[in-house]
Amino acid sequence: MNTSDIDKDAARQIREENARHTVLLNAGGSAAMLGQGTWHMGERRDSAAREAGALRLGIELGMTLIDTAEMYADGGAETVTGMAVAGLRERVFLVSKVYPHNAGRGKLAQSCEDSLRRLKTDWLDLYLLHWRGDIPLSETIEGMEALVAQGKIRRWGVSNFDTEDMRQLLRCDGGDRCAVNQVLYHLGSRGVEYDLLPWQKAHGIPIMAYCPVAQGGRLRRELLSHLAVAEIAGARGATATQILLAWCMRSGDVIAIPKAAQPAHVLENAQAGAIRLTAQELARLDAAFPPPGRKVPLDMR
Ligand code: NAP
Repeated sequence: MNTSDIDKDAARQIREENARHTVLLNAGGSAAMLGQGTWHMGERRDSAAREAGALRLGIELGMTLIDTAEMYADGGAETVTGMAVAGLRERVFLVSKVYPHNAGRGKLAQSCEDSLRRLKTDWLDLYLLHWRGDIPLSETIEGMEALVAQGKIRRWGVSNFDTEDMRQLLRCDGGDRCAVNQVLYHLGSRGVEYDLLPWQKAHGIPIMAYCPVAQGGRLRRELLSHLAVAEIAGARGATATQILLAWCMRSGDVIAIPKAAQPAHVLENAQAGAIRLTAQELARLDAAFPPPGRKVPLDMR
């Protein structure tokens, strides 16, 4: 399946709907609320063209933010992303991530340069510290700001930072320029709602939700087959996965980045952008999957 297999008017409608929904980033700019992940892409050479095709379909359907990382397939996912955005670069908001051990004075600029080369682009729209390591935050901020000044990246942010990490980040010089924090967030993992999400809201720093459809495995199967999810999906003529995505984006200020290498999944995800859950549906999902009543450590994959 590609865009030529989808009715042109239908594809345009989906694209226009998704284009209407953007999230304001801290320190300027905005990005599509519904994007695409790339973890596990680029692991096999014979799948690269198919994966790039899936990402291109997603771009055509308005999921114009693509999230990748130097870590994924040792740069292979960035290479696939580069294939996908060839000729479409201006329409895409590209996000990549640097390993913590490369986020210091000696290595950050080279890591960024390597990512740009694999992505076949001159700039990243957003560059994230993948998780917190041993390098002082102030040193990473300094390096990120130097990349901004050189035009290599438009803005920077962090990933897998819990509330105390964010507090420490904002106490550093320039830390208040952090555009987003990318964390695991889905209906079955709501820990961030206890204090991280409210803290970030208060500071105008949005969350980018990874694993928004709960990856694969038992937890995902439990979520999808839960009566509340299944009945809400059934009543709307939607799929359970679409309900998970709509739930993630319900507040209007969370970006979701589902990864899909299968074109049918890409189409299904793109169509979720139009779903607005009602207060009644949200209450039913809250009853089935209650928000946390206490602090829980940040969930990570
Ligand atoms: P995910 O997006 O929750 O789940 C991906 C899985 O769900 C894939 O197996 C995919 O299948 C399947 N899927 C997607 N849409 C579907 C649909 N409509 N129906 C049925 N199955 C569907 O998990 P994720 O890839 O771990 O997370 C998303 C992205 O977040 C990653 O790709 C990565 O870019 C980012 N991430 C960041 C971190 C971090 O530490 N910052 C950690 C994890 C992930 P197919 O591929 O076969 O279509």
